[in-house]
Amino acid sequence: MSANTRVVRGRVLSFRDDPRLDEEARIYIEDGAVLIVGGRIEAVGGVREVLRRAPPEAPVDDHAGRLVMPGFIDAHIHYPQTQVVASYGAQLLDWLNNYTFPEEQKFADRDHCERIADFFLDELFRCGTTTAMVYCTVHPQSVDAFFAAAERLSARMIAGKTMMDRDAPEALMDTPERGYEESQSLIQRWRGRGRLDYAVTPRFAVTSSKAQLEAAGALVKENPGVYVQTHLDENKAEIELVRRLFPEARNYLDVYNRAGLLGPRSVFGHCVWLEDAEVAALAASRSVAAFCPTSNLFLGSGLFDAARLERAGVRIALATDVGGGTSYSMLATAAEGYKVLELKGQSWPAAAAFYRMTLGNARALSLEGRVGSIEPGKEADLAVIDSRATPAMAHRMETAEGDLDAELFVLMMLGDDRAVRQTYVAGVPRKL
Ligand SMILES: [Zn+2]
Repeated sequence: MSANTRVVRGRVLSFRDDPRLDEEARIYIEDGAVLIVGGRIEAVGGVREVLRRAPPEAPVDDHAGRLVMPGFIDAHIHYPQTQVVASYGAQLLDWLNNYTFPEEQKFADRDHCERIADFFLDELFRCGTTTAMVYCTVHPQSVDAFFAAAERLSARMIAGKTMMDRDAPEALMDTPERGYEESQSLIQRWRGRGRLDYAVTPRFAVTSSKAQLEAAGALVKENPGVYVQTHLDENKAEIELVRRLFPEARNYLDVYNRAGLLGPRSVFGHCVWLEDAEVAALAASRSVAAFCPTSNLFLGSGLFDAARLERAGVRIALATDVGGGTSYSMLATAAEGYKVLELKGQSWPAAAAFYRMTLGNARALSLEGRVGSIEPGKEADLAVIDSRATPAMAHRMETAEGDLDAELFVLMMLGDDRAVRQTYVAGVPRKL
């Protein structure tokens, strides 16, 4: 029997759709279980029924009383920034220059890349996150080290080499040609290998020339279905700089549009200060706007307007944006998202937030056929969540007993890595 065959028992919670659109979207089995065979979900249901179907020798991990959910998905995060999280007192452009760019230069050293990649993946798993869309640095070895670590752990990850050819320290710059060639060879080496996929990653319009953005567009054209990730309309000084650098563009998003970088697999981080024309172009191209609440608050960038984007039909994802973001936990990220939306006069029910962290983000990343819900045939990435993980949570749960919506809201507002008791990646327990 393969090592990743087992039964995981608990209170199974998963979504078929956004619970705000469909009342029947939530699947909840109080005394449930998931049968995992060869890293995939073979069956899900009541514990008796699942045990009847399980091979007799399959181990049973009993998480009775705890929630068994799909692993969380983080749509925008920087693995080279684990040692600049919580760096004091700067908005975006200073924060990049003072903290991030010096830090990213360390990734010229392959040993450093490996050490940080291992830490980063462990930390994601400790937080119940099993899939992420990840920025590496400009160094190809940073991408090789990240993908090698993810492959060793059988984790589903999307990542790419950051492309930067101006307005950055010499040691962090490539050229349009080198950025293209290094990205192309990384795509050949890693895309589609195991559970890995590639994102063409021009950091943002400030640090990529028109020629480099066009090279990124060529990569997208030559590699159909490849992902794109970059930043958009995060900070007012950034937007002003882009306006000066690209006077011919109608707006910030138009800079990327002219290079052929919009589309259903393109994820734009932040999208705080969008003009109406940008909202319309995101919707028309089926591009994704990544909401990064802890980062937007920490860097004083602004407040994401989810309702406006949803009304216009823009696809949305939720993301930590560590290290501009201050927590690896999608639970803590959702809590800050809730507060941002309250400031905008918008509501975000807990069930909708948990849908977003799981199937919603899987859909945003075009991965809904593989991960994001607990259904037969899907990959067995699970998070086991304890709503009574801390004394304050246990105390609060005394008055939420038997009310799943109240429990989910307690988890969303008070939960973090401490609430995650176990994480399964392709069926293998990974939380240290
Ligand atoms: Zn970012």
